[in-house]
Amino acid sequence: MIKIVLSDFDGTLTFKEGLSPIFFDLLSFLEKKNIPLVIVTGRSLSWGHFLLTHFPYLKDVIVEGGGAIVSRQGKFITEECLISQNEVERLSEFCHQFKVKFPNVPLSVDSFGRKTDRAVELHDLQDGTLFHHIEDFLHEKKINFSTSNVHLNFWCGEVSKFKAVEYYLKQKNLAESEGMFFGDSLNDQTMFKDFHNSVGVANISEVMDRLIFKPKLILQGAENIGPHGVLAHLKSIL
Ligand SMILES: [Mg+2]
Repeated sequence: MIKIVLSDFDGTLTFKEGLSPIFFDLLSFLEKKNIPLVIVTGRSLSWGHFLLTHFPYLKDVIVEGGGAIVSRQGKFITEECLISQNEVERLSEFCHQFKVKFPNVPLSVDSFGRKTDRAVELHDLQDGTLFHHIEDFLHEKKINFSTSNVHLNFWCGEVSKFKAVEYYLKQKNLAESEGMFFGDSLNDQTMFKDFHNSVGVANISEVMDRLIFKPKLILQGAENIGPHGVLAHLKSIL
């Protein structure tokens, strides 16, 4: 029996790069079933704050690819950082080196609202050679990285969507088998690899050839793109 739904945000809960009415239908469907939704996203801490303050049904959001959890505690929004202060500082130091090495590659605007990772817009890296130079530099400095639908994200320390979800479910006394995860991209792979009930929405087909780990179930067809697939699948099993 599913007691909690976990989901990536961009491309999974958004449709054509935006929020659409289907997202609100999904929230009200889950609210009627009394099943919480926890967004597990590469977006920033400040985005987590935005989501909690604008969507009262959400109580917790896992952000920055698993680097932090933002929660509603009564009237207040609190944050829990899942890496050490040392790693936070090492990342900050690396960002200075990155700016010196790649003065023409700006950090994403939302990096200002990030704490445990930083990002570069993928559209600034369309030159494949530049992308590889950055990858080499990240390897050289032992900085971890991954790509989402929109960003190249990088961070220090052991951070992953799966690790954060595992920690979160333990805090809530929930078993992994009581959750279901939806995703659509490369940065969902730690969930696809280790989380039992993982579902890929139909647009995952765009990255299928680059996925090393695939979700257990892959939805098909235009009617199962992004949040349409999430809602249709939940309706079919709940
Ligand atoms: Mg995504």
